[in-house]
Amino acid sequence: MVKILGVPFSTRTFTETCDFLQDKLQGETPHHIITANPEIVMMAQDDAAFMTLLERVDLITPDGIGAVWASKYYGQALHDRVTGVELSTSLIEACAERGLGVFLLGASPQSNTLAIKNLRQRYPQLRIAGQDGYFKEADVPEVLAAVRGFKPALLLVGLGVPRQELFIHQHKQDLQVPVMIGVGGCIDIFAGVVKRAPKLWQRMRMEWLYRLLSQPSRWRRQLVLPKFVLTVLTDKNRKK
Ligand code: UDP
Repeated sequence: MVKILGVPFSTRTFTETCDFLQDKLQGETPHHIITANPEIVMMAQDDAAFMTLLERVDLITPDGIGAVWASKYYGQALHDRVTGVELSTSLIEACAERGLGVFLLGASPQSNTLAIKNLRQRYPQLRIAGQDGYFKEADVPEVLAAVRGFKPALLLVGLGVPRQELFIHQHKQDLQVPVMIGVGGCIDIFAGVVKRAPKLWQRMRMEWLYRLLSQPSRWRRQLVLPKFVLTVLTDKNRKK
């Protein structure tokens, strides 16, 4: 584990993370996983309750190149990114092979339906269900009942940060799903509504720039990146 601005990141590689979580899919204990980017780390700097939540979850993986870069200043370099979309794909595959259920909670009704359709096409034997993410607080008990009724091994929650993290944290015991991950916009990616950066951009560690260029409305959110870099470079607790 390496703490970056107080947030405990797992030092497992992508393969180690997949193995670790695949092992949990058929267990009895619920696990809350966060694939964290600088936005999450910075949010926790000004929000003590959110930092406490991050300290208590079962696993935090480095979703972006930001955490991989920052880790070298904290004594233990992370090797690679463990992104929400890659981790989810690997776990969905494991569920398909073992006849376990996957529940997608989040995104618009169209996107949610399309994601399920695409995943069924890719893994014909997959047991999968979903519910869009535009429900009201009053409907939460119904949403929880739908998830529980389906008994998934994997619950992917794409409600945006921090709502998805708070939702999983608050309902963890009630849901009793072995692996629950906050996945942001991944359901839109499975739906094909949002495209990932081409492999070359990913390899050049420029996925963030691709996202900025393809979804310019996000530029305000990406202002957090330079702020993150500056906060790490001026952090008294960093090791070099
Ligand atoms: N979303 C939702 N309910 C809401 C607000 C957002 O289901 O009330 C969904 C939205 O449709 C999108 C995801 O949450 O699929 C958040 O995507 P974003 O790109 O903001 O997430 P990121 O990957 O950047 O965390």
